[in-house]
Amino acid sequence: MSEQSEIFIAKSTIKADDREHRRKINFNIGRYNTAVVKGKEQFADLHLARERAKNIKWRAIETLDQQLEEFELNFTKRGGKVIWAENTDQAIEEILNICREKNCKSIVKSKSMVTEEIHLNDALEKNGIQSVETDLGEYIQQLDGEPPYHIVTPAMHKSKEDVAKLFYEKLGTPPNLSPEELTQVARNILREKYTEAEIGITGANFIISDIGAIAVTENEGNARLSCAFPKTHIAIVGIEKMIPSLTDLGLFWPLLATYGTGQKVTVYNTIITGPRQENEVDGPDEMYVILLDNNRTNILQNVKQRESLYCIRCGACLNACPVYKNIGGHAYGATYSGPIGSVITPHLQGMDEFKHLSFASSLCGNCTEVCSVKINLHELLLENRYESVEEGSTTFSERMAWKIWKLASLKRGLMNMGSGKLKNKVVNSMFKGWKKHRADLDFSQKTFNQMWKERYKN
Ligand code: SF4
Repeated sequence: MSEQSEIFIAKSTIKADDREHRRKINFNIGRYNTAVVKGKEQFADLHLARERAKNIKWRAIETLDQQLEEFELNFTKRGGKVIWAENTDQAIEEILNICREKNCKSIVKSKSMVTEEIHLNDALEKNGIQSVETDLGEYIQQLDGEPPYHIVTPAMHKSKEDVAKLFYEKLGTPPNLSPEELTQVARNILREKYTEAEIGITGANFIISDIGAIAVTENEGNARLSCAFPKTHIAIVGIEKMIPSLTDLGLFWPLLATYGTGQKVTVYNTIITGPRQENEVDGPDEMYVILLDNNRTNILQNVKQRESLYCIRCGACLNACPVYKNIGGHAYGATYSGPIGSVITPHLQGMDEFKHLSFASSLCGNCTEVCSVKINLHELLLENRYESVEEGSTTFSERMAWKIWKLASLKRGLMNMGSGKLKNKVVNSMFKGWKKHRADLDFSQKTFNQMWKERYKN
């Protein structure tokens, strides 16, 4: 068993038993479920909208090399700079180089899962640079020293009382502030940070190749401030976020909003085409876009798994997943949790260490049912299992167990051997993991053949 798999089992065992955790998650996902129904009403034909979105992402991913080059060509025409980063180390090094060049001591950062993926805050901190999260949920998580719990709502597992307590402990505010008062506290602190920071870092929801731009979607306006106030803006984005045209946003913005939070459209949608131009008053002097691979091309070259690159990170599959709702986002031990995380993490971070995530699924298919871009998530989970077996990343005892099982299942005589009592004893002492949270298996005292004969006689 891999180290990650042991950690996963230990963490999920604790969380699955935590009723308070379940209450908070059910409450928040319940509100989400109500909102999504309303959001969906804006689509005349939702099925068609999702199909179209899938087709657009299919085209973008099938021609990704050309789309990325087109993006670079168009973005650099307006003075933007593009950096290609093959992995985490390269991305971090490039960001640190820019920080050194700008003599940067303070950074404001808007919500970005890619920066979580490369553990950017830790790297900046080690180099004496303060990086402040400006999305309220992320700010709460940063104060608490925790990674995001969910790809859309980072502090979903916290109640308003939890947040009030956290602010009281970390910021010295009164212990019983309301959500509005807590937001005001965070806002006052963050407003100052925007004016001090030399660099703003954001992610991007979409890279748009035909106009050479990135699009950022958010509800608080913090990403706009992060990229407009500081003199330098760095956007770091996974290469799969590509869409071919500006006009595609007319479909993707409402889809992302509805499936992400149940809104018709998210409050702030910004298209950024580069640094401030001569005739413009707002915006940074310099803008960089870092295009991050970090093993995404591993997925791209896998014809079956390629579909997972269509993901627009709406988070709907997490909210629908019975496993996620039981064990929570942190148990996965990976940046991307829930069904989509279980599909891509083994390819991004290694099959040996993370294959267990694809096995921790009921394969109910609810994730596929709710996916905004119709990714066949449960089939990709199965495909991961198949690939892990094909690659030989199974243990000797597992292979032996299946061999014996197959042998016995194919021979009626072997299945009929031994009494029910003996079978109970053997199986219940062998499958200890299964029994931890379940009653003993209880085999029938008669064999299937005996029962069949009796029934046929009657
Ligand atoms: S896989 Fe689909 S449902 Fe899950 S986050 Fe991505 S787009 Fe949303």
